[in-house]
Amino acid sequence: MTDPAGGFVPGADRSAAPAPTDLAVPVAGRKLLTTPDGGFPRVGDLPDYTAWVPLGTLDGVPAWAADLDGAEDRPGRGWASLAAELPGPLAALAGRALTVVTWRRTHRWCGACRAELADVPGESARRCPGCDLYVPIRLSPAVLVAITRPGPADRPAELLLVRHAYGPTGMWALVAGFVEAGETLEAAAHREVGEEVGLALDRLTYFGSQPWAMSGPGVLLTGFTATAADAGAEPVVDGRELTEARWFPLDGLPAELPPAYSISRWLIDATVTSARR
Ligand SMILES: [Zn+2]
Repeated sequence: MTDPAGGFVPGADRSAAPAPTDLAVPVAGRKLLTTPDGGFPRVGDLPDYTAWVPLGTLDGVPAWAADLDGAEDRPGRGWASLAAELPGPLAALAGRALTVVTWRRTHRWCGACRAELADVPGESARRCPGCDLYVPIRLSPAVLVAITRPGPADRPAELLLVRHAYGPTGMWALVAGFVEAGETLEAAAHREVGEEVGLALDRLTYFGSQPWAMSGPGVLLTGFTATAADAGAEPVVDGRELTEARWFPLDGLPAELPPAYSISRWLIDATVTSARR
């Protein structure tokens, strides 16, 4: 898998003030404000009083989130619609802007002694001046698993797809879930698959990862491939998180698949491609 973030390097350097030609990523609530051509403005295009938050660099150009708190009624777009159109590095930059701005809004005060937190220079972190508590941005890792089994004689292998009870309920997706504290990614994959569809896995293999800004700030999706330990086992859904689970032949996948910019889809497409070899 190539690195879809490409020329975007996250950072938190605020040692130099934003230059008018630096990139600006305006955030208003859960929306990102774009220029009429669908891209992001430059720092010089926004008013002087804008609260700037360093994001890192895109192809060497510093990028800053503009926290437009209170501008939620301005027309803007969600991260998903941007990720569907923008190249990978810009989508990654947009996701980081949403995450960092949302995190700053929700981490103003020390959770231990209630003092106001202060920014740590050069880091995406804050520290409490009262009790020295260190508060970095915390990520929420989640796992996705593309499970296959051999098909019937002379037929291609089959992929397990599921439908969720919440969110885009018409979409056929992969089994997924959040990692518990104290758990490895691999253990989470085995546990989630066991809980959601009652299957045991063989050959669990890491595939890649994607920061995902849609289901909340700081979600980091990690993808795995695996085979069903028992090729004859049928999935059993719990009825709460999932409504359906079904084996599909790799040459007959349904049309309602995850969007092209998602690691779910990259996993599904890679599974189909590797089966053709
Ligand atoms: Zn404190």
